[in-house]
Amino acid sequence: MQKKRYSGYKSFDYLEPGLDYKVFKLAPELGRVPSTQVPTTPEQETRVKGLFESTLMISLHDHCFVAPDNLSEFLEFRRWGRDATAYEGLSVSGLDAVFDNLMNGTAMITSRGGWKWDDIIYDLGIRLSDIAHQEMVVLALKTEDIVRAKEKGQVAFIVSLEGAAMIENELDRIDILYGLGVRCLGIAYSEANALGSGLKEPRDGGLTSFGRQAVKRMNKLGMAIDISHSGDRTSLDTIEVSDKPIFITHAGARALWNSNRLKPDEVIRACAERGGVIGIEAAPHTTISEKNPRHSIESFMEHFEYCAELVGIDHVTFGPDALFGDHVGLHHALSDALSIGASRGTLEYPEVEWVDGLESPAETFPNIVRWLVTHGYSDEDIAKVVGGNVMRVLKEVWVR
Ligand SMILES: [Zn+2]
Repeated sequence: MQKKRYSGYKSFDYLEPGLDYKVFKLAPELGRVPSTQVPTTPEQETRVKGLFESTLMISLHDHCFVAPDNLSEFLEFRRWGRDATAYEGLSVSGLDAVFDNLMNGTAMITSRGGWKWDDIIYDLGIRLSDIAHQEMVVLALKTEDIVRAKEKGQVAFIVSLEGAAMIENELDRIDILYGLGVRCLGIAYSEANALGSGLKEPRDGGLTSFGRQAVKRMNKLGMAIDISHSGDRTSLDTIEVSDKPIFITHAGARALWNSNRLKPDEVIRACAERGGVIGIEAAPHTTISEKNPRHSIESFMEHFEYCAELVGIDHVTFGPDALFGDHVGLHHALSDALSIGASRGTLEYPEVEWVDGLESPAETFPNIVRWLVTHGYSDEDIAKVVGGNVMRVLKEVWVR
C-alpha cells in the first residue's frame, strides 16, 4: 500500500514512561497473527496499488487503538484512561481517513458502567493530545481535511462516539462535543438512553421527544448521526426525523443472520431512500451467515453484496470495526460492557480466533480492495464503496 509519512512516533513519546504513566505491554501492531492476504495475480495487485493511489479510502468505523497484550490487565489499563493510537499500523493501512470511535463503552475511569461525560472527555482529550504530538495522523473537522490528508500522505482522524448517553438531558453537550472535534454521534449504544432505545432492549419505544430535539440539533450543527447500535424502531424514527442522510456505520444484513446486531431490510432500505449509507461490520462473529457460519472476509463480503443488491452500490461502504490486538479475547473479557450476549442470534457458529483477512485496520482495506478487484468490480464502483459514498454524505451533513 501507499505508505503514509510515518516518523516512527509511538504514543506518548512526549512523556517519560514509568514516571508520567503506568506502562502496559501492548499487542504488536503488525503481524500479530498469520491472517491470510486475499490472493491476487501481479496484474491485479498493480490495479489494487493504483486504486490506493487514485481513490479516497475512508473507513466508516474502526477503533485504531492498541489493546494490551495481556487482556487480564484490561480493566486496570482502562482505569488509567490512556489509549495508544496505532500509528505504525495505520501507516500501512492505505486509509486516508478513519472514523475512530475511541473506546467509550470501556471508558471506565470513574465508573464501571461506562459512557460517563467526564470519562468521554478524558478519553477524547488524551487521544487528541497524543495525536497533536505527531504529524502523520491529523484531526479532521471538515471534508477538505480528508482530501488534504490524502494529498500529504497523512491519515484524517474523524472522532466518532457510538452512543449519546453522556449528553444526559443536555442538548448543548452536543455542541460541546462538536466544539471538541466530534463529527459523528450514535443515538443509543445497546442500552436505551434519553434519546431512544438500543438493540439490547426487550422493547423499543422509538426516538423520544428529547431524541427528536437531539437529532434536529445534530442536523443544525453538522454532526453525522449513527444508528448502528439503536433498536429498529428508534433507527426508523431517526431516519424519518433527520433532515440529513443517516449512517449505519457498522452493521450487516439480518436477512443473512438473525441477530439484533444486524439490520433488517426495512431499516437498510429506509436509510438508503433518504440518501444514507450502511458500512459493513467485521468485528468477530458479527457478519456471518447461514451459508458462511465461520467468520471470514467471505461471510463479510456476502453481507456487502446482499446490501448492494438490496439498495444499490451508492449506499454501501465498509465500517470494519477492527482494532489492534486480540479482538476475540477482548469480547470475552468485556462481554457485558459490549452487550455481546444481546448481539448474538440463534444460529450456531464456530468461534474463530480472528477474522481471517480482516484482523486489524492495517489489513482490512487492502484486502477489501483485493477482494473487489478479484470479483469483477469496476474501478468506478470500488471508488464509491471505499470512500466516495461516505464523502457524498459528509458533504451534505457536515454543513457549517
Ligand atoms: Zn460498535
